[in-house]
Amino acid sequence: MLPAAGLLVLVAVMQSGTLGAVTPPALAAQATGAEFPRALKGVRNARELAGYRTAGGDVLRSRVVARSGALLAIDPAGLEALRAYGIVRVVDLRVDDEFADQGADPPPFGRKPVLVRLPVRVESMSADWRENYRNLWLENAPALRAFLELLADPANHPLLVHGSAGTDRTGIFAAMLLELAGVERKVIREEHRRTDGSRTIDPAWLDEVFAIWDAHQAGLPGWLEENADVEPSVLRAVRHHLLSATPLAEPAEEAEAREQLAAAEALGATGKYARAVAGYAKLAKALPDTTAGRVAARRSQPNALVGWQWLVQSGPPENRVDIVLLGDGYLLKKQASFDKLAERMPKEFERHSVFGEYFSYHNFLRGNLASEEDGVDMGERSFSTALNSRASDFAQGQVTADHKLVHDYLAQLPHQDGLAIVFVRAGSLGTGGGGVAVIGGGPSNTVFHEWGHAFGGLMDEYSSDVGYTGGVRSGVNVTNSPDLEQLPWKHWIDAGRKGVGAFEGAAGRAKGAWKAMASGCAMASGRDFCAVCAEALVLRIYGQVDPIDAAAPAPHPLADEDPFADPVPPLAADAPLDFAVTVMRPATHALQVRWWVLPEDRVPPAPSPVGGRRRYGDRRDRGPLAVIEEPHQAETRADRDGTHTFTFDPKGLRPGRYRVIARAVDDTRLSGEDWPWVLHDPHHLLRSERGWWVVVER
Ligand SMILES: [Zn+2]
Repeated sequence: MLPAAGLLVLVAVMQSGTLGAVTPPALAAQATGAEFPRALKGVRNARELAGYRTAGGDVLRSRVVARSGALLAIDPAGLEALRAYGIVRVVDLRVDDEFADQGADPPPFGRKPVLVRLPVRVESMSADWRENYRNLWLENAPALRAFLELLADPANHPLLVHGSAGTDRTGIFAAMLLELAGVERKVIREEHRRTDGSRTIDPAWLDEVFAIWDAHQAGLPGWLEENADVEPSVLRAVRHHLLSATPLAEPAEEAEAREQLAAAEALGATGKYARAVAGYAKLAKALPDTTAGRVAARRSQPNALVGWQWLVQSGPPENRVDIVLLGDGYLLKKQASFDKLAERMPKEFERHSVFGEYFSYHNFLRGNLASEEDGVDMGERSFSTALNSRASDFAQGQVTADHKLVHDYLAQLPHQDGLAIVFVRAGSLGTGGGGVAVIGGGPSNTVFHEWGHAFGGLMDEYSSDVGYTGGVRSGVNVTNSPDLEQLPWKHWIDAGRKGVGAFEGAAGRAKGAWKAMASGCAMASGRDFCAVCAEALVLRIYGQVDPIDAAAPAPHPLADEDPFADPVPPLAADAPLDFAVTVMRPATHALQVRWWVLPEDRVPPAPSPVGGRRRYGDRRDRGPLAVIEEPHQAETRADRDGTHTFTFDPKGLRPGRYRVIARAVDDTRLSGEDWPWVLHDPHHLLRSERGWWVVVER
């Protein structure tokens, strides 16, 4: 799943709560509503954006938003003062490199769910700070929008926003809020000047940003709506919260529009696409200034998302590979034919060797895109379609689609992992990469080849020239050197797997590129994958899907414990206790589950990522599990639902704390096969663990 998607989920969850109900419990208990600390040792430029008077005579309220530099060097007294003030969210504007080099704020502020990271970057910093300020504003529309959406929800107040020193990025964000509230420019400049940067701040820098706002005929709000897709309702809410303590009621027309939108969406979910579009068009016309009305306006364009439907729901989207099926060049009245075609796709996956074995690790969602025209761009000829597909200028005219448009439509769906298979009605062959496979026509073996590119990051293994030029990069399944010691798939050769070596001819070249097996891989032609590609795909699936799908009772994690979750007390064991884990179920083989009961001093350490840094945004971030030296107490078998149960019996145990551990592993050994599918799993993606603390009294 993508970080961006995670953020959207967070925002959605918070917006669904009633006013003020989402305050994390641990903080609520500590917050006494104390004033913002006058001085914070070790923290630069810390102050509330409060007390400023607007041109209309209103005063910015306390306890909504504060600004500062990073909290890295805060002292214990300062930490306590901030806790007493009761910050609910910290928005950290530092970019990945700064975050990795400097570290996170001290807990609880540097941890989720308090911490929300919105990296604000500039493509290239220059010596000219006027230009830097301009670019800080212009290049960070998504962060501006996400920040305003957080602030629109009072459950996130008080919120602290900071960068590194709390000068430039933070200053620009603060200026935006003051401007939205209606504070005069000379006061905004004054506020900005209060900042003790390492350099003297020149007010002219901020003027560059003002100039951008002023160039829009509707000023800053207009700029934000147009360039950062900020909803008017979000701006309305932010302005209201900055100035008024009374809860903001949802305007009646917003509620009305929301109802009409839901009704049209229900039609789109049941194949009544034309009626859905009529509903969208009506709503867009009647209530154009509502949030739902704007969605409806998008949906009634000639090229638009007009409906969606889950085709296969194997399990919760959070623990599945969710594939969205889209069509391009399908007119509104031809959606039924796309529906028919899309329905075939999951069945093709189910019949495939690798994807069939792991079929239940996938969900399929159909998204219906109506196109204005039904052709595919070629040469000078251009058609108006939802995804702007085109036949590439390569010799064979492989079909491509506009990936940005694909992701725009994905973002409108209820759930997505940034993964899509696009069927282009009038296209031929296919292309794949970055999570998106584009296929001309309907389901065929081409899908698996392109999905190998799109999902698995695999390279072409055929040697016929399709017009590629330039050097060959090395990947999981193709390399630019035949040196046996350097082969990415060396572990297969070391293990003695027959048929694996270095075979010249790959990546669309006869010379200079080598693959692992002579033939028989879908990345060359055909339907199945070679051993190296199959291994990569299974690892990729497990990069997203945890082998353990559910556990009961609620486990006690060892690492990264969430300081704001209600603490789960250890279990008291005065009688036998039952523990259960439900594991994933491949089609023809079963995961192994083993159980341990360890005294507290024998519990292995929490895993940490290889290289010590979290950097993948997937299950590799957890890191390999530590070895447990003690023998396991039980190996269990699953019931029909994949659930394994273990009974902990305190009888005969000395008083003390114990940890019950369940570990699941997929050994990828299928009956009738000589080799496992995965030989090398450095991050232990195929393994998972749950643990519980149990106290045995005397
Ligand atoms: Zn291969």
